[in-house]
Amino acid sequence: MSCYVCDKHKSGDGLVASDGLVVVGHVLPDAPNTNGRVYLGHLVVEPRRHVGGLAGLTSDEAAALGRWAALAAKALDAEHVYSQIVGHQVDHLHMHLVPRYPGTPREYWWPRLDSWPDAPMGGQDEVTRLVDDIRARLDVDLLGR
Ligand SMILES: [Zn+2]
Repeated sequence: MSCYVCDKHKSGDGLVASDGLVVVGHVLPDAPNTNGRVYLGHLVVEPRRHVGGLAGLTSDEAAALGRWAALAAKALDAEHVYSQIVGHQVDHLHMHLVPRYPGTPREYWWPRLDSWPDAPMGGQDEVTRLVDDIRARLDVDLLGR
């Protein structure tokens, strides 16, 4: 069985951080439903194991997903971070984290962030640079290890 998310975990593309249970990555410009450019800072928090939805998580996976979502949101350094789970395109649980940056006009707040003509959009090079920045801001001490 082929799965876009499982394959991405193996390749490490867009990886921000991970542990044995959860992978945090940036949405990739070649992901389903993108056209080569993505909203910069749009992260996904995913269980490493192929699970279709929240109800399929173990207690440890659920705890790890919540911790990583909070850490990643903090590292995005945004005015606000939206999160949602949809799952219409890919059958592997992925929690979207989408930052709203300061100065975003009210009429473009969720769910229209990437419709703003001045929204920070980018391709693979911009994503790679941003992932490095986010990784540097991750406070792994908050993981309690
Ligand atoms: Zn999968």
